[in-house]
Amino acid sequence: LVVTRFAPSPTGFLHIGGARTALFNWLFARHHGGKALLRIEDTDRARSTEAAIDAILDGLNWLGLDYDEPPVFQSQRAERHAAVAYELLSAGHAYKCFATSDELDAMRAEQREKKQPMRYDGRWRDRDPAEAPEGAPYVIRLKTPVEGETVIDDAVQGTVRVKNVEIDDYILLRSDGTPTYMLAVVVDDHDMGVTHVIRGDDHLNNAFRQLPIYRAMEAIEGGWEQPVYAHIPLIHGADGAKLSKRHGAMGVDAYRDELGLLPEAVNNYLLRLGWGHGDQEIFTREEAIALFDLSAVGKSPSRFDFKKLANMNGLYMREADDARLAGLAAPRIAALEPGFDATRDIALLTDAMPSLKARAKNLDELAAGALFLFRNRPLPMDEKAMSLLDEGARSLLADILRELDAYDDWSSGSLEEHLKTMAEARGLGLGKLAQPLRAALTGQATSPGIFDVLVLLGRDESLARIAAQAE
Ligand code: GLU
Repeated sequence: LVVTRFAPSPTGFLHIGGARTALFNWLFARHHGGKALLRIEDTDRARSTEAAIDAILDGLNWLGLDYDEPPVFQSQRAERHAAVAYELLSAGHAYKCFATSDELDAMRAEQREKKQPMRYDGRWRDRDPAEAPEGAPYVIRLKTPVEGETVIDDAVQGTVRVKNVEIDDYILLRSDGTPTYMLAVVVDDHDMGVTHVIRGDDHLNNAFRQLPIYRAMEAIEGGWEQPVYAHIPLIHGADGAKLSKRHGAMGVDAYRDELGLLPEAVNNYLLRLGWGHGDQEIFTREEAIALFDLSAVGKSPSRFDFKKLANMNGLYMREADDARLAGLAAPRIAALEPGFDATRDIALLTDAMPSLKARAKNLDELAAGALFLFRNRPLPMDEKAMSLLDEGARSLLADILRELDAYDDWSSGSLEEHLKTMAEARGLGLGKLAQPLRAALTGQATSPGIFDVLVLLGRDESLARIAAQAE
């Protein structure tokens, strides 16, 4: 059984790189019919916040990533982590280190001076703890191998080697009895039955430090098989530099709230960021589950491209359900237009959606495009609309008003026929008629198709708006 986990540290929001890691883990588990698990790595009590936990859960939920078990909170497992540290200690795979912080500072200063790599020198590795003063505080350090090298066959990075001398005897348990991150991750992954660790390649070095714990515990009690590692390249900005806020390194909530994007578009975009299947760009969730595998995850960093994301969102908007889009656009319209009453107007908004959504790349554009429907008279005119309403246009509107006023059949098809006949009778192209009409009806120079606009506004409102501009 494949078991993956997403293990965010709740020290900030769910950023876009984390969201992609979550997605890849989730897809991999679903592809293999396995389990997707979530672990909140809140051991850093000072930096972890409730707000960040909520934002992460909220973001994952928005992306539609569900988990097969309730989240594991790492901070609640400290006793178990400590127990493993003591198991390693009593089996001789770890040792007590009584070095004081002054002593360690001096050691590092010396290493710095000699331009040696700064790492713990193993001074208590072979010393008898009885040599330490009575009751002196100690940490527990892992006895890492010194000979040979550690090799990882990473599912994304390929074969990676590190000389074991480069891995120091790092701390498992601090002097206050709290576990370090390195210990907690391994114990939790083991206890959760994690078979595949898929995470950012900034953790590749950690894998080399974490493996010796598996090996030691495997030797002690068995059943500590090391997971498959897949370290995925980080996301860079469009200019190739490390991702910053300017590049899109905001929380997932900002993609939803500030950019007004749909979760399926963000998912599809994240999927394509570092993973590919031929030159296919659009994947339904079912396709993504069917096709996702680690072998097609690229080795080089992907570049975040806002424009591509925006275009993808536009595609998904066109496919999205009208009632759903109306529900999503409603609060944005309400924020812009006091004349909008969601309870009363949601039906009209839904009816308008087929014409509105074709013209919008995000929910803000969708809301902006819908405003004309809900504005009270006198309808505000933008500059371009004003420029379309010269004297000739206004007298044309008066003619249109007279014609339409005598006309009862207010369906799109017959309005079209009627207005075409009118235009022909005057020797005008339909556009000449539609332009001032659009300006009068919407206050804008662009809008959905003019017949749709007439139908959506209805007979009375349409005639009143035309009358207001006619001369
Ligand atoms: N909590 C770590 C992070 O947010 C991830 C640890 C892991 O995936 O092993 O960077």
